[in-house]
Amino acid sequence: DDLVGMDNLVANTAYLRAQQIDRTELRKQRLTMTLPKPRRCSAQQAAVGQKYESLCEQQPIGKKLFQQFLLASKPQYAAATMFLEELNKWSFAEDQTREKLQQHILTEFCQPASKCFISYLRGEAAEILHHLSNKNFDEEQMDKIREATKDFLKGKPFLEYLQSSFFYRFLQWKEFEKQKITDKYFYEFRTLGRGGFGEVCAVQVKHTGQMYACKKLNKRRLKKKGGERLALLEKQILEKINSLFIINLAYAYDNQTHLCLVMDLMNGGDLKFHIYNLGKRGIRMDRVIYYTAQITTGILHLHSMNIVYRDMKPENVLLDGKGQCRLSDLGLAVELPMGKTICQKAGTTGYMAPEILRQDIYEMVAARLPFKDFREKVQNDEVTRRTLEDKCKFEHKDFDAPTKDLINRFLKKKVENRLGCNADLRQAFFQSINLHRLEAGLVEPPWVPKSNVVYAKDTNEFKDVSEEVDIQLNHKDENFFQEFSTGAVSIQWQKEMIESGVFDELNSHQMNGQSCEPRWK
Ligand code: ADP
Ligand code: MG
Ligand code: MG
Repeated sequence: DDLVGMDNLVANTAYLRAQQIDRTELRKQRLTMTLPKPRRCSAQQAAVGQKYESLCEQQPIGKKLFQQFLLASKPQYAAATMFLEELNKWSFAEDQTREKLQQHILTEFCQPASKCFISYLRGEAAEILHHLSNKNFDEEQMDKIREATKDFLKGKPFLEYLQSSFFYRFLQWKEFEKQKITDKYFYEFRTLGRGGFGEVCAVQVKHTGQMYACKKLNKRRLKKKGGERLALLEKQILEKINSLFIINLAYAYDNQTHLCLVMDLMNGGDLKFHIYNLGKRGIRMDRVIYYTAQITTGILHLHSMNIVYRDMKPENVLLDGKGQCRLSDLGLAVELPMGKTICQKAGTTGYMAPEILRQDIYEMVAARLPFKDFREKVQNDEVTRRTLEDKCKFEHKDFDAPTKDLINRFLKKKVENRLGCNADLRQAFFQSINLHRLEAGLVEPPWVPKSNVVYAKDTNEFKDVSEEVDIQLNHKDENFFQEFSTGAVSIQWQKEMIESGVFDELNSHQMNGQSCEPRWK
């Protein structure tokens, strides 16, 4: 028993220490790294496409290089990108700073005499700019000017960018992004949880120090239980999503025995653990409101992509190191075919997310389910009957009137009387939170996990004993594993390169090393 405890302590120490990375040490190790040459420029160019949104807005490295290009070429281009940056800050700022930023934008960009005057505007946008003042400076007007600025950038500046050495650099990064990923790419740390097909453990990318969680799916067990199709679906849905409130996928690869999904590390633990395993049961009301706001934002994001989540429960909501939460485990999520709306689907089958969400709010406050007490032994049929027929009771003292009211509105027996997942409702319930800032991840969490605590059960509780020795893998299985193992996911990988400093380092090595790349067609 003591030895088991010792194993856990050692595992925890290594895991916690890895999170306090020494950046200077890593930087030294990276001094010899250089960007690869794009092997076949024309093929690479065809693969990245010509879409402005993808190349200059969605992909973080693409966005950076396009900005660098704009700043380095013509004053008008530089003004446009600086203006967009300031406008963005203004849009998400809190009241006091917002006014200052507004004044700054007016004097720096909107006066014909100032150095960064945005003189490229034409037609309606130019007219708006001409009459712009402290009095009519609002979202609607600024949206129009923002759009006109983007239209301007999409034209000649974008075409010039595609011919520049900055875009050549982008293709080099894309070449780097395509590298093959194996176990050797990571250090592995303790197990954090266990899923149906294997364990989830913490890993760290060797050359950047970035920590992730790696969900391992045992290949033989997948085959035995026929889980391949669902595993691929989970991976394909995860790689499409880029949200602050849903677990993001960074890499998908395989080894001899497992398929691996490398995702955001949520080292703050899951909500089930917080509700039941940390002393006093339940979670403080301000935290409940904050998490619920983030969860609904995540759900709305999924719905906007026609994805239905279907697995809403506290153990699937995970906290990161800062105390923000994300939805995890998209193994049950489905993408609705075009044309079918979510309301239709939910109305007939009844697995609509908000309905289950209110159950979640209830459980966070009361540390029990609305229709099933904590540890109550009761048949599933009876829980179903209560859900359909009984009125919800609120015996727990922490339910305040607005919360009871909200839960009751979600709990209406008839679908037509039940509140849906709409913006008005969110506004009403989350009065205390600025949702615009929350959506951008700018609202401070009410509670922050301690950096010296591991919010997971002891490692010995996750021991994996069974091995499917009777299952043979064949050629067809290998093809499937290859389809799954696509390596780095663009947006997440590029974020990792920027945040770890690798992007800046490699770009400057390159600048100092060789002379400028040849211009090319
Ligand atoms: P399954 O689909 O097989 O249920 P999950 O995705 O739910 O697998 O993962 C199993 C467990 O691993 C979770 O309950 C959680 O405790 C832990 N876990 C999963 N993803 C992460 C993550 N990104 N960060 C930290 N722990 C995680
Ligand atoms: Mg799960
Ligand atoms: Mg699952």
